[in-house]
Amino acid sequence: MIRNQASLECRHISLSYGSTPVLRDVNLKIEPGEFFALLGPSGSGKSTLLRLIAGFNQHQSGELLIDGQDISGVPPHRRNVGMVFQNYALWPHMTIWDNVAFGLVERRESRDTIRRKVGAALELVGLQDYARRRPGQLSGGQQQRVALARTIVIEPKLLLLDEPLSNLDKKLRVQMREELKNLQRTLGLTTIFVTHDQEEAMTTADRMAVLDGGVLQQVGTAAGLYDYPQNRFVAGFVGTANVLEGEVLAGGGEMLAFDARGLGRLVLPRPVDEAPAPGAAALAFRPHQVHIAVRDEQGDALRVWIDGQVESAEFLGEFARYRVRVGELALVADQPHYAGIAMFVPGAPVRLGIDPTQLRYLAR
Ligand code: ADP
Repeated sequence: MIRNQASLECRHISLSYGSTPVLRDVNLKIEPGEFFALLGPSGSGKSTLLRLIAGFNQHQSGELLIDGQDISGVPPHRRNVGMVFQNYALWPHMTIWDNVAFGLVERRESRDTIRRKVGAALELVGLQDYARRRPGQLSGGQQQRVALARTIVIEPKLLLLDEPLSNLDKKLRVQMREELKNLQRTLGLTTIFVTHDQEEAMTTADRMAVLDGGVLQQVGTAAGLYDYPQNRFVAGFVGTANVLEGEVLAGGGEMLAFDARGLGRLVLPRPVDEAPAPGAAALAFRPHQVHIAVRDEQGDALRVWIDGQVESAEFLGEFARYRVRVGELALVADQPHYAGIAMFVPGAPVRLGIDPTQLRYLAR
């Protein structure tokens, strides 16, 4: 198997198109063998960063290092980086075999080497029986695998994938997610992929970087970002979040007072690990961490209870999702569903019980 594990590091990378900054002071370290996602909404700079690593874009400042060596001025074909494009970019008139062999022929490898490597690459992606076909005769998922085989056959140090699953239908996308992950593990190749789909990033990547407006917001594992988002953008982009804006009030002791805008004062246990400073802040918590109960139910004393009124209800099978009006705010609460549980109807007076251990303070 190919064991080309390289590290990649971006140091203070900035890139502008004309006077428009697209990447702003990006600092990032990707470890050898990692399966790493660049996650962000459309226009956040993900593709620009990926193309920059491939060598198709040039940054104006900062350093780009592979295995500790600055490759900033090195042209794409000398970087030993393989990139799979979103549309696969296969040659329609060539057979699958010739498509995969292309890079090796260009490198003037011997016929024996080409035969051996192309055979191995096709086998790796399970397409050894399709070598004589042309791309048009294959399904979207198979074309994707040809594109992968064609890239890994040249044994790159880094594998870059631009929205690798976006051209596939929903069902195939979920299946290919698993395949891609297995293939990456087998190869052990440092792999960076771009996606706007948080579920795709969370289920596939070892770690990910969240980008917004060309600024790297946070780097971490799926659970790390979900459980400990650092700001409002990450809280809302990685999963669904309720966010209360407000102010942490000064005062000592074990309890902390948070003046929530539109809701009033909440008295909460002071978090031990990340005690927030007095001043403007936000509190984030997840819909499934909110307990929804009928108004007159005596809730458990460990939760903070707020009165509200159901605004809308959605039945999603595994759970029901409620939007609940609390003063000026609308909060989202999920309730796990079992047969026989009656759903709350719009207009129903309810109480929301928030688990204070699950609250995250977001600084401004
Ligand atoms: P993403 O991949 O996250 O959707 P991109 O990296 O494609 O975002 O684009 C980031 C920003 O840079 C966008 O605002 C886009 O319009 C702009 N941009 C991308 N390519 C060019 C270009 N060649 N010239 C000018 N602006 C560009």
